[in-house]
Amino acid sequence: SDARLSDYERLSVLGHGNGGTVYKARHRRSAQPLALKIFAPGDPSAAREAEILKLVADAPHVVRLHAVIPSSATAAAAGEAPAALALELMPGGSLAGLLRRLGRPMGEHPIAAVARQVLLGLEALHALRVVHRDLKPSNLLLGAGGDVKIADFGAGKVLRRRLDPCASYVGTAAYMSPERFDPEAYSGDYDPYAADVWSLGVAILELCLGHFPLLPEGQRPDWAALMCAICFGDAPEPPAAASEEFRDFVARCLEKKAGRRASVAELLEHPFVAEKDAAAAKQALAALVAEAEEQTDP
Ligand code: ADP
Ligand code: MG
Repeated sequence: SDARLSDYERLSVLGHGNGGTVYKARHRRSAQPLALKIFAPGDPSAAREAEILKLVADAPHVVRLHAVIPSSATAAAAGEAPAALALELMPGGSLAGLLRRLGRPMGEHPIAAVARQVLLGLEALHALRVVHRDLKPSNLLLGAGGDVKIADFGAGKVLRRRLDPCASYVGTAAYMSPERFDPEAYSGDYDPYAADVWSLGVAILELCLGHFPLLPEGQRPDWAALMCAICFGDAPEPPAAASEEFRDFVARCLEKKAGRRASVAELLEHPFVAEKDAAAAKQALAALVAEAEEQTDP
């Protein structure tokens, strides 16, 4: 509508991304706390993110959009990309931040809470033909009570047809599935939704190992090394001490052949994310968030 940047008071920085900055902010008139995502001028992801967040407004486990903020009234009238988005404030920050503040890997219980909620979010997104294409710990946000929501739709895409090929190199190479590096080689079973499942698998393995799983710890994630590891290496696995259920869940996500990878619907039936354990898993995650709040970000 007619939101303006001056309607919001910026309180602190929540995070930086590719050119933009996210602030903790307050809507001056209503005193409502919010997250204000300000884009660099000309950032092509701004319009994409606004469009997708409007489209998925009612989806569960997706961060809520409060307002789209144009750079000026004339820019808005001309249909220019927004300068900023006012988003629901997620008080626990991202899973990347949680992992950093904890300084150790997460246990399987809280990871199951993450996996189940992200799957429920993906189920709703995919039903609307939206692929996220950049799932990773810094784009998964924590609310109160162990709530998890999917954020950052700057690389997202709305597919026109169910199997629209969309393997362009958007998002973060580190979490990209094998078929996205070479869609030609995989054209027989190309499924854009399966790429989000791969990224979820890499992300939850990262939570369980405490570091990015596809390269030796400390190795710079340059594009060539990543492509080799993802396309030609064995799919990474949880540590030997992990439960059989967790190992199987990760293996179903990190199936290198997209056509054999589990679908979101299949994974929601997996015992690792069973509904009967969901409340306890969320409690375990909430306890970790509370513990991390006592640590300062190193
Ligand atoms: P980018 O597209 O630049 O990666 P993101 O939307 O991923 O931007 O936001 C960058 C970081 O800002 C996130 O990793 C997270 O730490 C923080 N952040 C983003 N949105 C919110 C929010 N709604 N509530 C709390 N923190 C947020
Ligand atoms: Mg991000």
